[in-house]
Amino acid sequence: MTELNQNNQYDAIIIGSGTCGATIAKELAKQKKKVLILERGKTVLLKESLSGIVSIMNEISVGKKLKDMRALTTGGTTALYFGVAALPPFDTFSSLGIDLTQDYEEAKKELPINYLPDEIYGNQSLKLRDSALELGYSWEKQLMLVDLSKCKSGYSYESKWKAKSFVDDAIDDGATLVNRAEVTKIIFDKNKAIGVEYKFKVRAVGSTLYQAFGEKIILAAGIHASPMILRNSGIKNVAKNGFYFDPNMGIFGLIPGLKSTDNFVGTMQTHLEDDISLGDANVQKLFYKILTVAMFKPRHYFSFSDNIGIGVKVEEPMGGELMENGKYHKTLSQEVLSKLDRGTEAAIEILKNAGAKHIIKSPLSPTSVGGALNISEHVDKNLETEFKNLYVCDRSVLPDTYRKPPTLTLVCLAKYLARHLLAEN
Ligand SMILES: Cc1cc2nc3c(=O)[nH]c(=O)nc-3n(C[C@H](O)[C@H](O)[C@H](O)COP(=O)(O)OP(=O)(O)OC[C@H]3O[C@@H](n4cnc5c(N)ncnc54)[C@H](O)[C@@H]3O)c2cc1C
Repeated sequence: MTELNQNNQYDAIIIGSGTCGATIAKELAKQKKKVLILERGKTVLLKESLSGIVSIMNEISVGKKLKDMRALTTGGTTALYFGVAALPPFDTFSSLGIDLTQDYEEAKKELPINYLPDEIYGNQSLKLRDSALELGYSWEKQLMLVDLSKCKSGYSYESKWKAKSFVDDAIDDGATLVNRAEVTKIIFDKNKAIGVEYKFKVRAVGSTLYQAFGEKIILAAGIHASPMILRNSGIKNVAKNGFYFDPNMGIFGLIPGLKSTDNFVGTMQTHLEDDISLGDANVQKLFYKILTVAMFKPRHYFSFSDNIGIGVKVEEPMGGELMENGKYHKTLSQEVLSKLDRGTEAAIEILKNAGAKHIIKSPLSPTSVGGALNISEHVDKNLETEFKNLYVCDRSVLPDTYRKPPTLTLVCLAKYLARHLLAEN
């Protein structure tokens, strides 16, 4: 399915095959629409190995020593996400004229949305919970996008839902997927989007420019691409209020004899005051190894079975800019840094209470980058831009009041858009 289609007029062209792109493609193809998915990355056999992760992972700077991560591959960033889910912010969307209730009901039938039973947790997660509860913190389980029948004896990468499965469904229903196709701009006829221009990369030959034409053009290339494609296409005020992210770090210690195992990360958490949250940062072994090598912590690197980890996350306000080179940039305020310090103190208290020694802190990472586009400003309640037939549906349009794991909400939003597009025809 990765061959270029010579007949390049489609009902819908979807740019990006991540959470949103995959969902829209599946919904439209199911209704027999002629769908083209243009995906910058390759289709790879998804597996959690070092070479597998390195081949799809892409780091992007959003400030000094702050690098966000995404996956460039069929299925987008769900290829390397943690699988944590949160309910959509129905009221927030409702106030924007968007009702996601029907879409959520449908999503529930198609996605494995579950709390993990205690038997699946590694010893390190259970130890962390006991310690937090003993100190009087609430420590609540999070919903997960995990198929429990595929992880009966503990963590398994395969059990996490991934958007690639929706791309596969779309292809089964007749959608065309073109990999290594990087969309650079939208083609307009007066005030109407009619197609896209994209670079198709062939190793050893280089890039060739192609065009494809469609009735509906849907940008779902993610927060690090869609706003820039819009700006390159002439849409003004992109990221005019800046963007947001949630700076976070992992704090790790060692408890001899703990017998830590591969583990689902992010499955339990608590909120402190002032938008500070603490969560389970007991990553699976491969991520732990990558992290401790990057931090140059040999003692920790060789002690996975003794490790215990907790994350500190702070909600950081809108600000910064999307620069001309297409990268976001902002500097963390003293207030945010102080909140991180407060969270760190509480995290260390929990680790020490659990018996952890040799406590180390990871560098900061800017999770949950968003807010570059606003619903009701850059797109309307149908997610359509000022240009007719050009829509945006991905992380870029999530409101800055919603700082929870976004994947489930994005699936619902993508279903909502697909419903609207189908109703229009
Ligand atoms: C390490 C990590 C862990 C995470 N854990 C969780 C979690 O537990 N729960 C949760 O809800 N969220 C989590 N997330 C976030 C979540 O995965 C993303 O927010 C979500 O996948 C975003 O969906 P999207 O559709 O906006 O973009 P993506 O899923 O990133 O998809 C965008 C797609 O567009 C393609 N693309 C980019 N540019 C172009 C272009 N110019 N032309 C064509 N194609 C292009 C990309 O290759 C990609 O396939 C995590 C993220 C990371 C990095």
